Amino acid sequence: MNKISDNKEMMGIFYRMAKEHGLKITPQRTAIYQELLKAKDHPSADVLYRRLIKKIPNISFDTVNRTLLTFSEIGIANVVEGYGQPKRYDPDMITHHHFRCIQCNNIIDFHNKAYDDITVPQEIQRQFTVLNKKVVLEGLCEKCSKKI
Ligand SMILES: [Zn+2]
Ligand SMILES: [Zn+2]
Repeated sequence: MNKISDNKEMMGIFYRMAKEHGLKITPQRTAIYQELLKAKDHPSADVLYRRLIKKIPNISFDTVNRTLLTFSEIGIANVVEGYGQPKRYDPDMITHHHFRCIQCNNIIDFHNKAYDDITVPQEIQRQFTVLNKKVVLEGLCEKCSKKI
């Protein structure tokens, strides 16, 4: 289940965060954010661009790419672990975890209370400043395990 059920509330956060960071709210930026909110597949800029161009024929890849980077900078989207692929984005800022399929590269959200509560080991806390805890499981998704 995805916790972003209330898009209206998310749009409110979008307007507030944009305002706080002095980001002008343009129709294109709004459209990019709405499309990202709808996406459940942690899309890359390219994937999102291909969806947007159907609705906004004059939007450029560069705009989509830059806007997504800005969204991650002002804290309304997360960059998902990348493994050398193009950056992928996640509009869900609430603590959740990922299952990544090594075959089809799908990143699927899941929620788990025990994982939310994991504590960072002392030595890691001394070495790094931890801002975000997320468990990433890797393997084969349902679809890909059936193909074997
Ligand atoms: Zn898969
Ligand atoms: Zn996610």
